[in-house]
Amino acid sequence: MKQDNPADPGARSTQVVHEAGTGRPILVAPGRQVRPLKTVAGRDGSHGCPFCAGAEAETPPERDAIRRDGSAPDTPGWRARAFPNLFPAARWHEVVAEGPEHVIQPGRVAVADWLDVVALWRRRLAWLEAQDGVGCAFLFKNVGREAGASIAHNHSQILGLPEPPPRLLAELAAERRDGSLVDRELEGARRDGRIIAETGAYTVLAPRHPRLPHETWIVPHDGTTPFDDSAAHDGELVAALRGVCAAIDRAFASTPFNVWLHRVPGVDFHWHFEVQPRTGFLAGLELGGDMFINTVPAAEGAARVRGAWEEVCDHAG
Ligand SMILES: [Zn+2]
Ligand SMILES: [Zn+2]
Repeated sequence: MKQDNPADPGARSTQVVHEAGTGRPILVAPGRQVRPLKTVAGRDGSHGCPFCAGAEAETPPERDAIRRDGSAPDTPGWRARAFPNLFPAARWHEVVAEGPEHVIQPGRVAVADWLDVVALWRRRLAWLEAQDGVGCAFLFKNVGREAGASIAHNHSQILGLPEPPPRLLAELAAERRDGSLVDRELEGARRDGRIIAETGAYTVLAPRHPRLPHETWIVPHDGTTPFDDSAAHDGELVAALRGVCAAIDRAFASTPFNVWLHRVPGVDFHWHFEVQPRTGFLAGLELGGDMFINTVPAAEGAARVRGAWEEVCDHAG
């Protein structure tokens, strides 16, 4: 699996182009055609998984990791481990393996490992955004095959992009025009019964107008401290992220879902995470018209996720 230039595997074949009709960027990455699918665990739960501890040789050399035992790079001992994506979608594309054990549901990753993951996210975002040509590092998680995961082991990805993707630019423009989008959503959610949970400095809510059923946001109350400087409240952030992942897993019987961070580096923007269970479909209207059909009213969706949250948090103590 090793390539000639493992620090930069396959990156030469990637390219950013712009769609003729809309001007939106498209990442051209033909090298990803050959990536293997490893979403079914072996009988021992880890057979063939390149992201498990002990399989470090199957990934490109690590760029960074959280290690509490002084272990050497590319050996077991890590809790969270970042390395270049073997099949990159852009010049800079990293994977963060989240926890050394073969855990598939992020809601079941230990809190201590989650805390290490968030700390490593922050370091990788800063590192990637210091590279030439990177204007925005975009963090996301795909959980489940239908949500885009080709490897089941719990992980996230960070893409180094020339500029924020179109959706993030649209939110930034709206915020500059109308003030904090998150503050408005928080106010509306409190008024309309769309709060799912509170974890101190963070609120979990359903936005007023979800695009697809059960869209869920995790928002910091403090809109002026960037994500990069918010480590003081990571315990509360992890409680929210882990709780939402566990609640979605519970509410929708292990349905695939995505998580992404909306953060714009270097400018005032009220950052937040968004979580999208894939209970709806991307069909003709969505793909052909950039329009969505949401079949579940926001308050009803919030109630379902809130119910599952209460169940899983009761279990977790
Ligand atoms: Zn694994
Ligand atoms: Zn957003």
